[in-house]
Amino acid sequence: MSKLLKQKTKSMIEIPFTNVSEISLNPKGSVVTTNSGNKVFSKCAGCKNHPCCAFSDKELNINKFSIPVDLNTNVCSTDAISINKDGSISIESNKCIGCGLCVLRCPLGAIYFENNIASVDSYDTVISNPSKIDELKKEQLLLDIEKAKKTGTVLAVNKSTFDNFYEKFSKASAQFQIADLLVRNLFIQLGCIYGIRRRGDVINRIDGILFKNNETVLNEVELSEDVLESPRAVLDDIAIYKYKFSKNDNKTSGLITLAHLPNSRAELWRVIEDIQKVLHVKIDVVSIGTLLCLVWNRVSLKDSDFHFFDTKKKNRLILEEHKIDTSFIEDGYLSIFETKK
Ligand code: SF4
Ligand code: SF4
Repeated sequence: MSKLLKQKTKSMIEIPFTNVSEISLNPKGSVVTTNSGNKVFSKCAGCKNHPCCAFSDKELNINKFSIPVDLNTNVCSTDAISINKDGSISIESNKCIGCGLCVLRCPLGAIYFENNIASVDSYDTVISNPSKIDELKKEQLLLDIEKAKKTGTVLAVNKSTFDNFYEKFSKASAQFQIADLLVRNLFIQLGCIYGIRRRGDVINRIDGILFKNNETVLNEVELSEDVLESPRAVLDDIAIYKYKFSKNDNKTSGLITLAHLPNSRAELWRVIEDIQKVLHVKIDVVSIGTLLCLVWNRVSLKDSDFHFFDTKKKNRLILEEHKIDTSFIEDGYLSIFETKK
């Protein structure tokens, strides 16, 4: 393995990129083993459906929504990824906020983090240009990639990946729709049905709508310090949703997605409790960092997992439930995973 890594910048075995038997994912460079036993560093194969760039129709579930939702298929909320004419992809490093979604979605492990920024190697200097492989071979390649044994992980969750994300996200989220799109993309990656309001939609001001079991969850994404506004916004959303879209069932609840969780004495928790007692409307709270940590650990959210977003629980418990190593969580991180005393 170490010999192989050293070869990365030098010439490597030039083989047509077919007959994949194993993909060994690694944050320092994933390695593909072919049926004949050759090993080659993973490079972008220019997949037809580009899972690194776009969600499929099946993942977006557009027809499940009774309200108009945005049709944006972008996996990258900051528009940092583009598809080149030959089918390979390019990433604009200055736009990448290090959410890792594209990294996790590449079945070949061809995208990796370099200094916490997504990078992808061009294949042309290393392996045969996939655009020159005929279509049949390419179809076979995609099937091989899907079936191939995959080991390891391409993304290491640690303090530095977290710090980098929070720093870049706090700047980027001021731009229109980036936060809503990122939260949508994290929930979709977690296996949920989730939509955001369409650009220019002035009737519906719901940030996000999520379906779980027989329940509709309206999500308010609040990144400013003024978190006390968010329960009121959730109640507005529920009222509009029920009135405009004739949803007279009681199975509508609220969710608030925050960058950081306020400390346990904050007014927010009392307001949420009062709303539940008086109006019987349940509002849960989750931090973006918790969602990110679940995504980075390839969790598929079950309906029962939402129980951990109950304000009386700690977001951190869901990480433990999914056996995620939480040893990197230290003092400064408590407001991301649990409320400070
Ligand atoms: S980066 Fe990966 S997922 Fe994206 S087109 Fe290339 S091989 Fe396919
Ligand atoms: S890591 Fe996230 S922000 Fe960066 S290019 Fe990939 S999807 Fe975009």
